[in-house]
Amino acid sequence: MTKSSSYRGRFAPSPTGPLHFGSLVAALGSCLEARVRGGQWLVRMEDVDEPRCSAESAAAILRTLEALGFEWHGEVMVQSRRKARYREVLDGLIAARLAYPCACTRKELAGAPLAHDGAVIYPGICRNGLASGKSPRAWRLRVGDETIGFDDAIQGRVCQRLATEVGDFVLLRADGYFAYQLAVVADDADQGITHVVRGADLLDSTPRQIFLQRCLGFSTPAYAHLPVAVNTAGEKLSKQTLAPPIDLADPLPAFVAALDFLGQQPPVGLASLGEAWEWALANWSLDRVPRVRAVPCCAA
Ligand code: GLU
Repeated sequence: MTKSSSYRGRFAPSPTGPLHFGSLVAALGSCLEARVRGGQWLVRMEDVDEPRCSAESAAAILRTLEALGFEWHGEVMVQSRRKARYREVLDGLIAARLAYPCACTRKELAGAPLAHDGAVIYPGICRNGLASGKSPRAWRLRVGDETIGFDDAIQGRVCQRLATEVGDFVLLRADGYFAYQLAVVADDADQGITHVVRGADLLDSTPRQIFLQRCLGFSTPAYAHLPVAVNTAGEKLSKQTLAPPIDLADPLPAFVAALDFLGQQPPVGLASLGEAWEWALANWSLDRVPRVRAVPCCAA
């Protein structure tokens, strides 16, 4: 594999709970790919959705990463400290007439069809201006009519027609918080991320992010979406599905299970984290990662 010192990858957990097996898979896949390619690996706390996040969870995630032997480059970027930057990005889009205010309430949109992620496909009510007497609640991005396609290193070709599959999406929410899509695009650009390796639950968000990058004149990183760990009901492991946190006193079994989940076939008998890292760095191959979006997992 060619060494490329310009490679910059990242792990971007949302601190809504402790690090569990599902996020360990994303941390490990993104870190190993960056390290094996001679690149840097950064960590970012995606706490833009502040009501769902906590400083305690952020601290617990970093502690767990440390206990697992992860080392990241530079300071951890924290989204809740970057609101001024997100405002600047939004203002640029407003000035370019790419973003517009939306007065629609949840109730008014209740009948609209839903996108893959459960959000409504916005029917464009406020696209050409607010009806008289309405006041702005959120800001949306005006999407184009073209199909956005990209080649995912694991999942293959992905295409999405934003206009019909997603609609004009929210950049600044009605509750005053910036949307993940805007924050992640600004952060990936500002951190100089060249390669995004993350869970396939974000595959359907990627065309939105690419469109936003184009609107802002940012370059588009390469993407690789790892299968996500799901429980027997097919739900992503998360705090909501009561995924157990990683055992800090004995993190080796989870580390080895994550390697196995990612198709790397670690040998039995890896005796310490040091040995497991050494084996993983010598043997990691993205080509062995299962080319599916979800894998049921007994760590659930
Ligand atoms: N914060 C997101 C999560 O924890 C990941 C976002 C990303 O990697 O772009 O699911």
